[in-house]
Amino acid sequence: MEALSKKSVADINTANKRVLVRCDFNVPLEGGKITSDKRIVASLPTIRYLLDKGAKVILCSHLGRPKGEFLPEFSLVPVAGRLSELLGRPVKMAKDVVGESAQSLSESLLSGEVMLIENVRFHKEETKNDPAFSRQLANLADIFVNDAFGSVHRAHSSTTGVADYLPAVCGFLIQKEIDFMGGALAEPKRPLVAILGGAKVSDKIGVIENLLDIVDVLIVGGGMSYTFQAAQGHNIGTSLCEGDKLDLALAMLKKAQDKGVKFLLPVDTVVGKEFKPDTEFKTDHAQDIEDGWMGLDIGEETRKIFADAIKGTGTVIWNGPMGVSEWPNFAGGTIAVATAVAESGAISIIGGGDSAAAVQKLGFADKMSHISTGGGASLEFLEGKELPGIAALMDK
Ligand code: AMP
Repeated sequence: MEALSKKSVADINTANKRVLVRCDFNVPLEGGKITSDKRIVASLPTIRYLLDKGAKVILCSHLGRPKGEFLPEFSLVPVAGRLSELLGRPVKMAKDVVGESAQSLSESLLSGEVMLIENVRFHKEETKNDPAFSRQLANLADIFVNDAFGSVHRAHSSTTGVADYLPAVCGFLIQKEIDFMGGALAEPKRPLVAILGGAKVSDKIGVIENLLDIVDVLIVGGGMSYTFQAAQGHNIGTSLCEGDKLDLALAMLKKAQDKGVKFLLPVDTVVGKEFKPDTEFKTDHAQDIEDGWMGLDIGEETRKIFADAIKGTGTVIWNGPMGVSEWPNFAGGTIAVATAVAESGAISIIGGGDSAAAVQKLGFADKMSHISTGGGASLEFLEGKELPGIAALMDK
């Protein structure tokens, strides 16, 4: 994979310019109140940088799935309120997305002022990447900045289409994703170890395929590991198994062998009677699980083997928990791997979604080099796919 090199806000002059910034303000709301402002806080470095440079900042985002209708429960008004508190200055809220309110506010904006337009998904044209709508968005500004990594795998008007009409660069959040994830895939500090877990092989086929071309070691744990065991004829009891992926699992093992990639699977596993947090549990051989038991975490021996493989490596990429880490009785394997990654001294990159949440919840967030902010987007990145929202940005 070739290294990505995209221009960022720091590479262009934004003083006195109207700058449209695509943020990820898709925050959780309950009864109109924001229950976590993490995504708003994450957007602050790019916004503050632009304001300090004297830009006129016009923010946009999607929120939920209003499906092309103006629905008040998906309004970004609560975001404007919280953002204004965090920035310590007013955030002007447009009543529409590309209508008269947004247009006139954007024209009257002064240097160092900030405004937010309404939810881009109030227009059905947004998700269709409609050129006329993209142009209307572009009409609000002189420069486009994309800082919503969680949406770069979608070719929508506010993530991709608008870049046809404006000079387009990335913000600091996307820059960090490109530097770490892009860097690890294109020019990794070796040895490069990837750890994959989570529920299903089928969700991560593309990731495994792509990573087998790049990594030195591939570690597979979690629910998906049992399909690999079953494919080799082992007993897996009532563990998760994708019967239609057995051939594919064998093909992956063969590919690893052909490529000289070390492929590590669990040797022991914590099994439970039922899929319940308080079910009876014990440790069993991963290749010979007793009938009537299901694998819900990696065992002690496996934790040691995985930790040894992680120790002293150059780069670690991790996506997916080693077991049902939401349940304390089956979180031990994920905690052990998180500890090993944190102590490895390697460049550590955590793919988004469940693994990012697990690492945060378990208290390892500040020990990792990079935790991706996008679930689906980071998976597609690891699959080696071109992400339309990044491809649309200007090269350095
Ligand atoms: P993913 O979204 O593919 O990363 O999968 C994450 C989910 O996989 C989490 O909700 C885990 O509880 C689940 N998971 C991990 N290991 C197992 C397992 N052995 N059996 C069932 N579910 C699992």
